[in-house]
Amino acid sequence: MAYSLDDKLVVGVSTRALFDLSEAHEVFRSEGVEAYTRYQIENQRVPLTPGTGYPLVKGLLGINERLGETLVEVVIVSRNSADTGLRTRHSIEALGLPITRAAFTRGRPVADYLEAFSCDLFLSAEDADVVRALQAGFAAGKILPVPATSSHEGEVRVAFDGDAVLFGSASEELYQREGLEAFQANEAARASEPMEAGPFLPFLRALCRIQERFPPEDCPVRTALITARDSVSHERVVNTLHALGVRIDECFFLGGVRKAPIVKAFRPHIFFDDQLVHAGPASEVAPAAQVPRTPPRPAPEVGPR
Ligand SMILES: [Mg+2]
Repeated sequence: MAYSLDDKLVVGVSTRALFDLSEAHEVFRSEGVEAYTRYQIENQRVPLTPGTGYPLVKGLLGINERLGETLVEVVIVSRNSADTGLRTRHSIEALGLPITRAAFTRGRPVADYLEAFSCDLFLSAEDADVVRALQAGFAAGKILPVPATSSHEGEVRVAFDGDAVLFGSASEELYQREGLEAFQANEAARASEPMEAGPFLPFLRALCRIQERFPPEDCPVRTALITARDSVSHERVVNTLHALGVRIDECFFLGGVRKAPIVKAFRPHIFFDDQLVHAGPASEVAPAAQVPRTPPRPAPEVGPR
């Protein structure tokens, strides 16, 4: 029987999200694809240093080792060609990462292959791929530059923004359109009405399934919600998490206070936020990714009958 990824937490990660390829990418940008190919082949035995997505990938794969069972799989999903991807392969081997699956599309969009690998999360440095993945219903983040700090040791920590990340963007859009007062009135009036699920709910669900395998006092995964909402909307958030059937370990209602200091204190392996004003400063103190807000993909046109 074929090996099934359906019951695993699967992370699809691009080569630039897993490793710091800024130098090679600069060659690609300034000199083109042929120079890039030459550069990567010439340097294929020069190991790459970890990128923004590396701490999360390494931490999640460590759970398999601890349990003696495979709960997490990581797949390289890359626009590289198989030959320029060799440097990644060698770096994975040098670091001893148990990653055995990869897709190399040689410049073509990779998002169309996420479903075939049952991906619960996709990390990439490429805007177009992230947007396409989100439109197809995947939790996807565009990684920001590699931070200088290290993540928490001992447990894998993942921090999420609320609106437009774990939850839908309806309340956020109302805030943008009509301001804080209208937003607060709306949240108070609808306190018992759960919000819609956002793009990262499937990934949080997959993390919760792993958490269920461990006693709470000895769980290798810890999650946090870090929201700019104030505690007035506490009730709606709690009702929404219940309705969506997920749990979050730590919740921070910041009422507009800067998120970066909280992110720094939590020391996550990654932090996801839709707004660069939060994700940007956070990326200086922890690995971070932006979840761009995207209009739904237009329905395919119906051809002539
Ligand atoms: Mg938000």
